[in-house]
Amino acid sequence: NKAIIQRATPVLEKLEAHGFRAHIVGGAVRDLLMGRPIDDVDIVTSAKPVVICTLFPKTFTMNNQHETVIVRHDHHLFEVTTERNGSLQSDLMARDFTVNSIALKSDGSLLDPLNGQADLDDKVLRSYQPMKRMTEDPLRMLRAVRFMSDLGFSLDRELMNTIKTEASKLQYMAIERIVKEFYKLICGKHRNEALEILRETKLYQYCQIPSLNNETINKLKQLPSVGVYSEEIIWTLISKSLGLDETGPLKSLLLSNQLTKEVRNRLLALSYREKNDWDLLALYTASRDVAEDVEVIRQLSCQSYFSLKDLKAMWNDLPITSKKDLNITGTDLIAHFQKEPGPWVKDILQFIEQEVVLGRMVNDKHEILDALKVRGSKNERET
Ligand code: ATP
Ligand code: MG
Repeated sequence: NKAIIQRATPVLEKLEAHGFRAHIVGGAVRDLLMGRPIDDVDIVTSAKPVVICTLFPKTFTMNNQHETVIVRHDHHLFEVTTERNGSLQSDLMARDFTVNSIALKSDGSLLDPLNGQADLDDKVLRSYQPMKRMTEDPLRMLRAVRFMSDLGFSLDRELMNTIKTEASKLQYMAIERIVKEFYKLICGKHRNEALEILRETKLYQYCQIPSLNNETINKLKQLPSVGVYSEEIIWTLISKSLGLDETGPLKSLLLSNQLTKEVRNRLLALSYREKNDWDLLALYTASRDVAEDVEVIRQLSCQSYFSLKDLKAMWNDLPITSKKDLNITGTDLIAHFQKEPGPWVKDILQFIEQEVVLGRMVNDKHEILDALKVRGSKNERET
């Protein structure tokens, strides 16, 4: 943690050397004080974005965050944001929770106008003027519950009451932002307590997450703790608990196309495994990563599962592991049959692929062409 904070020091010092205020803020300071691992370091400064861009050689800006510049220093990225409302004090007072409103200077001193440190000690999430904070950005209500899950804090009474009366405002927030917080909520150590608060405050009704209801909240509560698994596995577990299938509803979460595809493949392979054991063709079709994840998920769900060792042995038995391994190409087939290219090429290739996987054809160009010839004449005799 010290090392991560020290990485940011040159960035702070450079801003200070040019006469600007610069502080580390938000989650990094909170996690440092709690002795938790820090993931990213956010910096707040009196310098304007254009100035930040001229001071540092490597900067990036994001379209939707005009006050934030990403500074690359020594292979690390820092989000440097101009102080909102023109002073550090008012920037801190406008943040979501008191425990996120503590600033750390390069000399190690803390600025803590809302006494976030006392709330850290008491493990309480509190907002300064909660009604104002929650209504100016209703996503903060869900963030509150996600921080409970993550940090194991309780909600201050006034904040809790505010969330209860304002919960419905969450429905107007962008689903992408909601999904990010919901995912972190599910990954937190104190997930089940947080899910109960989601229920009690009725926030779950306004999350826009398909099929999130009293019944599926119970399903989510039965999941083992998922924090250590991959995003693909976690989203598959969530989708299963919510009863989402591989089609429409999953898509409405607006995860990236790649992630949606990976989750869909795992859901398909899971339903296959409900009814069958793995065989060579099924394993080849699903791919090794997907099959492994399916077995991990089955194990987590207390269902019978293949050991990863057995799965690996079966994978190693496959004559080929992808189409690219076939020792014959479409061009070979076109030359051999002396026919116009067309959909028939793909059809035969697919057939060859299956036969090679099942060990019914040897993966060799001439052997494959011979086998096709034998089949061809057999078919002719039969018709
Ligand atoms: P994590 O450890 O999960 O990254 P974090 O506290 O760093 O938690 P981020 O979402 O990364 O949370 O945001 C960084 C900081 O920016 C927060 O600590 C908070 O001070 C501020 N912040 C972020 N989102 C909001 C918001 N919607 N409203 C107010 N402040 C926010
Ligand atoms: Mg953060």
